Amino acid sequence: MAESAAMPVRATKRGDERTPLDASHDVLICGASFAGLVIARELSGSGADVMIIDRYEIGERQTSACGIPTEWMRRLGLMDCERQRFDTLVMHTPHGDARYKLPWTFSTFDYREMCELLWDGCDARFETAKVNGRAVGAFLSDSERKAPSEIAIETDRGVIAAPLVVDALGWRRILGPGDGYQPPDAPLSRGLEVHPAGASEDLEIWIDRRYVPAGYGWSFPARDELRIGIGSFDPRFHVKDTTVLLTEELGKEPNEYQGNWIPHKLRKATEGGVFFAGDSAGHCLPLSAEGIRTALYFGIALGRELRGVVEGRQSREQAAAAYAEFNDSHEWKFKWMLRVQKLIPRIPPRILGPAIRLMGSKRFVEWSFRHYLNIAPPEFADDYMRKTGAAVGASEELAQAPSASPM
Ligand SMILES: Cc1cc2nc3c(=O)[nH]c(=O)nc-3n(C[C@H](O)[C@H](O)[C@H](O)COP(=O)(O)OP(=O)(O)OC[C@H]3O[C@@H](n4cnc5c(N)ncnc54)[C@H](O)[C@@H]3O)c2cc1C
Repeated sequence: MAESAAMPVRATKRGDERTPLDASHDVLICGASFAGLVIARELSGSGADVMIIDRYEIGERQTSACGIPTEWMRRLGLMDCERQRFDTLVMHTPHGDARYKLPWTFSTFDYREMCELLWDGCDARFETAKVNGRAVGAFLSDSERKAPSEIAIETDRGVIAAPLVVDALGWRRILGPGDGYQPPDAPLSRGLEVHPAGASEDLEIWIDRRYVPAGYGWSFPARDELRIGIGSFDPRFHVKDTTVLLTEELGKEPNEYQGNWIPHKLRKATEGGVFFAGDSAGHCLPLSAEGIRTALYFGIALGRELRGVVEGRQSREQAAAAYAEFNDSHEWKFKWMLRVQKLIPRIPPRILGPAIRLMGSKRFVEWSFRHYLNIAPPEFADDYMRKTGAAVGASEELAQAPSASPM
């Protein structure tokens, strides 16, 4: 989306540093954000020759408001990048507000630090390279190949090949067949946010047609900055003006614009021999547009399957079948979330306000938020910590007894 104003300074390699990368590896992971890095981390210690590439340096480009259930960070040993923790969620509608006491806490974190922490746990090789797509007619010679079933990928630094290739490149699904998704026709939402300096105790959501006809606004405090944005489920609705409006109504100056398309439909987990994880597989949850936890969750699942291949316990085809089955078993949950995403904008605002307050009852919040967390439960991350012997730490926030308090 061309809505970025202040572009961050580029730290990627230039000129002579950009040597050709033509070679073959056991695993090639394209994309070094949440999904790509966690897959590389799952493969660490396997002895596999893993190459991970991204057009930017690791952690260089923040892609989101960086909010996640705290327990996911704790179980992955990532607490050092936490910025702020919340045990309530404030919901605003034009006809009333409610404060939900959550059964688990939610944290904001620093993007660069999380990426670096994930990278610390990897033993892969990283290079900056722009992926152009699958290589057509530019294959490596037989002696350069690791396996006959290799897939070759064209980058701006040459052709890189591997029998196991992952697309963790985000919503474009660059390594998929065909032209891929193109907004505004594809099932994509759009999001834009700004990061003014400021502090607040409250994690806030606005469901208000003044800001967006179908979608929501947010303010995610992160210690010394507020991440204020608008997400529209309708890709045709331009969110810039109302991102500015919400920011100014909160008494802040919009700055550091950062936006992207956000998938809201689950896609195939494997296609043409390539594995997809994170936004490239539509792993972002409809309704909430929460895609970090799910990128980590499906990334871990894929990393485990790929590890089975490099350790000789299964074939690529078996890994593909197991990962596809795991992916597809979540389809009904994504469809259910999409139904609610479509329903909420149809509810008349005068009914929505009281409904949001009613839904703030302790019982309902506990029930709904626990179900929501269980779509990608934090316990799923435990294997990595067991393998490395790191301490997970007490799950104090999951044990908290919440009480709902409508405002
Ligand atoms: C404004 C906004 C706010 C959001 N806030 C949240 C939030 O608070 N919590 C949450 O859970 N989700 C949030 N999301 C969704 C979340 O950002 C995504 O679901 C998540 O980043 C997906 O992770 P990923 O690893 O699949 O892909 P991405 O994080 O998009 O990473 C893709 C990587 O691929 C690289 N790449 C892309 N194309 C190429 C190429 N051609 N060659 C080489 N490299 C390439 C990129 O540089 C990037 O590093 C938000 C989204 C937006 C737009």
